[in-house]
Amino acid sequence: METSVLVINCGSSSIKYALVPKDPDRPRLSGLAERLGSSDARLKGTDSQGESFEQPLGAADHAVALEAILARLDGRLPVAVGHRIVHGGEHFTRAALIDDDVVAAIEHTAALAPLHNPANLEGVKATRRLFPDLPQVAVFDTAFHQSLPPRAYRYALPEALYRDHAIRRYGFHGTSHAYVSRRADALSGLEGGGWLTAHLGNGCSTCAVWHGRSLDTSMGLTPLEGVVMGTRSGDVDPGLHAHLSRQLGWTIERIDEVLNRGSGLLGLSGLTNDMRELEVAESEGHAGAALAIEVFCYRIAKSLAALSCALPRLDGLVFTGGIGENSAMVRERVSALLPHFGLQLNHTVNAETIRGREGRIDAGGRQLWVIPTDEEGQIATETRQRLEETAA
Ligand code: AMP
Repeated sequence: METSVLVINCGSSSIKYALVPKDPDRPRLSGLAERLGSSDARLKGTDSQGESFEQPLGAADHAVALEAILARLDGRLPVAVGHRIVHGGEHFTRAALIDDDVVAAIEHTAALAPLHNPANLEGVKATRRLFPDLPQVAVFDTAFHQSLPPRAYRYALPEALYRDHAIRRYGFHGTSHAYVSRRADALSGLEGGGWLTAHLGNGCSTCAVWHGRSLDTSMGLTPLEGVVMGTRSGDVDPGLHAHLSRQLGWTIERIDEVLNRGSGLLGLSGLTNDMRELEVAESEGHAGAALAIEVFCYRIAKSLAALSCALPRLDGLVFTGGIGENSAMVRERVSALLPHFGLQLNHTVNAETIRGREGRIDAGGRQLWVIPTDEEGQIATETRQRLEETAA
């Protein structure tokens, strides 16, 4: 019997999908429908033979793309669909079996994630219409961080902003931090370790995890807070907005655009948000690239040091995400900034642990791990768990 879960990550003009079997040795089918809503939408992916394909979809919307995706699953009808939903607010502390009430609650949270939640919901609604008999589960990026205590999630703002407008820190990348910290527990043999996890991709965040629970994290009300990212600034002085408005006459839309899309590694380097290109440029003497990498690593180390306050005991540090999994240089520089944590890097093993390899990269002392993230696998796991609990 087919026991795969179809994992869907729906953006405003794209759908990322993966058919995730229960047996990790069975291959996954995955792909991406993109340019939805334009006249040349297309679907790219791999089939069950491992062959890649590309299929034009014409002027497809989300529903047409979902039908095309299902036709590409080679007759393997999933047992359930797991949807990635960015923001679950305070309402969702874990994955939820989707019904009309859950859809309404996600809609209610849209004000907190106006770019993401409506697009995610579009996928949910289209999938429910197309496959009304297939159970669907919503897995939230924020849910893992609902275990944060008030001292970590409250801003020092007037109470009414929290009470009446839900303004607080939520945190994101929850499925990734949950996956790698549980994997670190399993690999280290520690039951419920104290981990600092660093998800370093195009978006970047850090997290303090104790006994499988998130105690603090670097992102806040939105995914803009925290460490430096590909094009996002991370933390800036909250007075910056007023300054740019008063001194330069910038609108709030322009400030938002610059902080989200023109800052971070791209803004600092004046070159690119791609760490691979920055590493090459730095080696060729590009001063902006060197500065961008230095600020990036320093701010990650500073964030990890700050988050260590949340943990009763620190067992080690876990790197993940495109940069965390592949850039031995970034791992080396971040570790070197934290000598007081008792981190000793095994430089040879560190250099070899790239391209999806999982491994321990310390030379004794506190543990250092590289753990490739598996957000799709984690969404499939949480989807299955929710269904099993509902059936029990
Ligand atoms: P993600 O969002 O997790 O896919 O990560 C994207 C980031 O990973 C980009 O900044 C890439 O430049 C970076 N990345 C991917 N491969 C490498 C690599 N081999 N070395 C350095 N950075 C990499």
